[in-house]
Amino acid sequence: MNVIFLGPPGAGKGTIAKEIKDLANVIHLSTGDMLREEMRNGTELGKMAKQYIEEGKLVPDEVIIGMVESKLKSSDKGILFDGFPRTVDQAKALDQFAKIDAVINLYTTVDVIVKRVGGRRICRDCGKVFNTSWYDSDRCDECGGELYTRTDDTEETIKKRYEVYVEQTEPLVDYYREKGILHDIDANGEIQEKVDKIKAIFDNVQ
Ligand SMILES: [Zn+2]
Repeated sequence: MNVIFLGPPGAGKGTIAKEIKDLANVIHLSTGDMLREEMRNGTELGKMAKQYIEEGKLVPDEVIIGMVESKLKSSDKGILFDGFPRTVDQAKALDQFAKIDAVINLYTTVDVIVKRVGGRRICRDCGKVFNTSWYDSDRCDECGGELYTRTDDTEETIKKRYEVYVEQTEPLVDYYREKGILHDIDANGEIQEKVDKIKAIFDNVQ
């Protein structure tokens, strides 16, 4: 089973994907995580991606598609796509080498996202994620490491990313709705509630 998670950056796609990937026996493919790994390793692709991301822009299609296609070829499990496809062109390219069974549309508003992502703090040492809305310290409660804000998590870049999403990615909602495989899920709510709804959708697809 191949599944796509749609929703603006900060809607919580990654968190939910990690919760359900074992249940659905799929690999969580996050193009964001893949790109961050390339950037950490300082590869040519990583350097190029960094430049685009810091300007709040999208990384070019051919780079992402190539990365995704090679990952698909090396996997014998289903894939849970998170952060890809981002445009109708990418979706059409994906249709050439993968069959998509379900698309989960996590919808929310820009205000909710600014609040959620803007408050995000990450531990420099162990990577644990916190939020200022419920955590009031600049030190990690697990390892004592220093907490930092990702450079692409300022209010300005969050809003920019949201605008880019509405303009370039939201057309995918209609693209997949017309194919009859789109499922809407309200991104505001308890995580367990969302996970249960998505599980029910998967049970019907499988
Ligand atoms: Zn830590």
